[in-house]
Amino acid sequence: MDRPKVKGWSYPKSIDQFPMGSTCKSDHLTSINAGWRTVKPVIDQEVCINCLKCFLVCPDGAIDKSSKELEIDYDFCKGCGICAFECPVNAIKMIEEVK
Ligand code: SF4
Ligand code: SF4
Repeated sequence: MDRPKVKGWSYPKSIDQFPMGSTCKSDHLTSINAGWRTVKPVIDQEVCINCLKCFLVCPDGAIDKSSKELEIDYDFCKGCGICAFECPVNAIKMIEEVK
């Protein structure tokens, strides 16, 4: 999955100059941020109906839909569980991370 570029920041003089997207390294999908995750989502591809609700609600954009089956990018998933909560068919289970 391609990552957004980090853009420079200078104080905008008009609304048109507000940046769209990442402005610092810790922003959305610009640097690996999942080291503190204690649980992780796992998709049961047999149960998934490909509704893409999890893709839409993931706050970190960590679910990749570019291939036939959805894939979770564990470098960027923070383990919040929103995807599992919203899945209409319980295809996503949150499992404990193993050290
Ligand atoms: S657990 Fe949270 S961050 Fe990880 S894929 Fe699901 S919604 Fe996205
Ligand atoms: S929300 Fe559930 S059923 Fe829908 S695409 Fe995601 S894993 Fe599949």
